Amino acid sequence: MRSFTYLRPSTPAQAIEAMADGGPGARFLAGGTTLYDLMKLGVEGPLRVIDITRLDALAGFDTSGPRELVFGALARMSDVAADRRLKEDYPALSEAMWKAASQQLRNMARVGGNLLQRTRCAYFRGGEPFACNKRDPGSGCAARDGMDRGNALLGASDACAAVYPGDWAVALVAFDAVVDTLSPRGERSIPLAELHREPGSTPEVETTLAPDELIVRIRVPRSEAGRASTYHKIRDRESYAFALTSAAVAVRLSAGVVAEARVALGGVATRPWRSPEAEKVLLGQPLTEDVAQSAGQAAFAAASPGVHNAFKVELGARTITDALMIARQRAEQP
Ligand code: SF4
Repeated sequence: MRSFTYLRPSTPAQAIEAMADGGPGARFLAGGTTLYDLMKLGVEGPLRVIDITRLDALAGFDTSGPRELVFGALARMSDVAADRRLKEDYPALSEAMWKAASQQLRNMARVGGNLLQRTRCAYFRGGEPFACNKRDPGSGCAARDGMDRGNALLGASDACAAVYPGDWAVALVAFDAVVDTLSPRGERSIPLAELHREPGSTPEVETTLAPDELIVRIRVPRSEAGRASTYHKIRDRESYAFALTSAAVAVRLSAGVVAEARVALGGVATRPWRSPEAEKVLLGQPLTEDVAQSAGQAAFAAASPGVHNAFKVELGARTITDALMIARQRAEQP
């Protein structure tokens, strides 16, 4: 057993104060679906756990606003996934939740914590004796000469090629979502595209959040492409698995050509990965299967495959192609 202090603040201000006082050994606890897991594996060993689940002010969400959708950081994934308006107006956002985990996990997991889930790299989770720069900075990377099937093809560095494992953040980055945070220095907003860091030489630093900063809400600007969107996810098994490849896409067609395109990738990159290269191929073109294939290939033009993950270049391009065909169908529905 490892002992730790457990605190349950009742306001966001108390929560960030408890975090600031706790120093580097403190962790926020929301649904616990990542933190408990890593504590049991011995990868995380917090000295202070700050349970924020009673911060009711952060638990709501509103998908009816005229300018943006607003999700409190502690909204449950299951509630958001089931929201009728979200399913109709932004199917990609809803599908990313439905395909993310089992119902039990969705009942517990919160949309803010979900953004911060940590990699599934087996060497990271396996602990000693595996070298891992993310878990133990400077120790090396066992995945480099090991099994790299799950490693990233985009955004990797010599120090780390761990894939960002989430689905929801991939869909959010496609829609230019913004994250609002609170810290002892006040509130600020971070574009979701700037929340997650590429590993570079410091893979242990995964986000641009300060250690004492709390995500309080996620905002998604309304987009005319929302209805013709999808989150398409390819897995080793049909349910309850992390993505081998995934694509969040949204399109708006006008006069038979693509007037707006949003393409983001999951399962293949070190962070939620937007692909302006794929979007550029689509804009101004009729959304045929050939054009969709070209967009998929463009998204992987800069990929650096290893030994066991090279199949993802083709699989990822096809995932984007299929997703775009689903989006086209939705765009053409009256
Ligand atoms: Fe650790 Fe990253 Fe290497 Fe995996 S890929 S072993 S997380 S340093």
